[in-house]
Amino acid sequence: MYILNTDFKIDLSSFGIKNLMYPLRSYQILQNLGSKINNKNFIKFNNDYYLSLIDLRLAHSSSYIQRLYFNLLNELSFAYNQEPKTFINEEDFINDIYQACASVIKASDLTLDLNSCFLLQCYAGAHHARHDFGSGFCVINDIAICAKKLIKEKKAKKVLILDLDAHFGDGTAEICSKESDIYTYSIHQKNQWPFFTNLPIIFSDKDVHLDNCSGKYYLNALYSSLKDVFFENNFDFCIVVDGADVWEFDEIKSSQDIKLTEKEVLERDLMVYDFLTKNSVKNLWLMSGGYGKESYKIHLNLIKEFLK
Ligand SMILES: [Zn+2]
Repeated sequence: MYILNTDFKIDLSSFGIKNLMYPLRSYQILQNLGSKINNKNFIKFNNDYYLSLIDLRLAHSSSYIQRLYFNLLNELSFAYNQEPKTFINEEDFINDIYQACASVIKASDLTLDLNSCFLLQCYAGAHHARHDFGSGFCVINDIAICAKKLIKEKKAKKVLILDLDAHFGDGTAEICSKESDIYTYSIHQKNQWPFFTNLPIIFSDKDVHLDNCSGKYYLNALYSSLKDVFFENNFDFCIVVDGADVWEFDEIKSSQDIKLTEKEVLERDLMVYDFLTKNSVKNLWLMSGGYGKESYKIHLNLIKEFLK
């Protein structure tokens, strides 16, 4: 696995948005890697890709895209469930959000050559963003855009979106529901957000619903479901939504029904990596959820494993 460092960050608090996601997660990881960043598998890349309107329309309605341009604050109050401060620089914010998504697309292109990549970028894997609105701290669904673009440009024949975040990947499931070349998988808590909201729910191709379970139960459920999914399908590309909020000390309350130890989260990730490499599926990993100042440790553990 190659680690792709984009040197890109969004600090939501600088836009007046309160969020438990620590904006410097990727910098904390970098600091803790020390001299390991000289490893040949650590790649610093300058993203030279810009998101086009055509890319955005792969996942989002024209009406939503227009509202993002003309009524951004209103859209953000819904997506972040709070009133952003009026000092927000709307153009900067939207540029940052689009740039974050463009990095994911660029990273997927690199993954076609390198086979397996982890994108070290804090804001990536926005799985709650829906076709017609932003939701659950997610504005643009970079995962769905990337998967659809790979299919459209014939860079992949069948894409697996493997969502390991503690929360259901409702936006991705909705946007990709009619795509026969994209298979959505999500393993998540069944009694937490977004299930108790009024939001309409479309399920993934494969969902594993969990409730207050032990790490051992979680890992068994993941293993047996992946075995079935890989047995029944032939994938050539996978986007892993590698949420860290399954960790027992994650600080967001709405992920409390899954509590894996640090060791168990690493076991989860290595198990998934093993499935993907054994089945010759190219894979791109996105950081997605992870809340609090200690959350960086989860992805640091995985990265260290590959920079030994
Ligand atoms: Zn989450």
